[in-house]
Amino acid sequence: MLSPIAVAVREEVARHKMVLEQIAQRDITDDRVLKAMQKIPRHFFVPDDMKKMAHDDNPLPIGHEQTISQPYMVAAMTTLLTRLIPDGSKVLEIGSGSGYQTAILVDMGYEVHSIELLPELLEQSKKVLQGLDLMPASMTCGDGHLGLLERGPFGGIIAAACAKKLPKAWKQQLAEQGVIVAPMSTINGQHLFRWLKNQGKLSRKKVMGVRFVPLVRV
Ligand code: SAH
Repeated sequence: MLSPIAVAVREEVARHKMVLEQIAQRDITDDRVLKAMQKIPRHFFVPDDMKKMAHDDNPLPIGHEQTISQPYMVAAMTTLLTRLIPDGSKVLEIGSGSGYQTAILVDMGYEVHSIELLPELLEQSKKVLQGLDLMPASMTCGDGHLGLLERGPFGGIIAAACAKKLPKAWKQQLAEQGVIVAPMSTINGQHLFRWLKNQGKLSRKKVMGVRFVPLVRV
């Protein structure tokens, strides 16, 4: 069996390869995103029987029919969100899942408020985030469709589950010049979109075809 230090070194090397080959050598050039993804130990957010695959170029099951997003998707969504909002902005995350995306945003200095529907996943991700000293400003168990009125308005909203329509609460709780990054169902399947609020109006840009778990209606 490897010592804890040897494991940490092995995982750091695996992360380096992940960041280089899957992220930097594609189209992500934002140093802050690359740095955070090099630093945050992704294997902490993956169940024990999946640890060997923690840095693979795909999503992985985390239980309860949910997944931790593919590393590239986390990098792409984080870049889209953070490029246009001021440092330290309030960010609402919908669907904390494993807590990996939460950790990246907290490490980058954002005031993160995260909502997760499933209490089991929320408990698990809280433990990991606490252990790494990366707890966000708030973690709430609830339906992300409703946003988090008492903590808004948000400079950014990021969702890792696919809604059929942009929830009204997200539009209302987004600050002026705020950005939403989320997958949405269209007649041609799921696409990742980026919305920008300007003078109260949202404009939308289609980014790429994606596959996310559904944003569950409760
Ligand atoms: N970024 C996370 C993604 C997890 S998958 C990660 O990489 O680990 C999407 C998450 O959205 C799941 O945990 C799922 O339980 C959650 N979810 C689905 N519907 C939801 C809803 N209505 N409100 C809040 N969270 C929801």
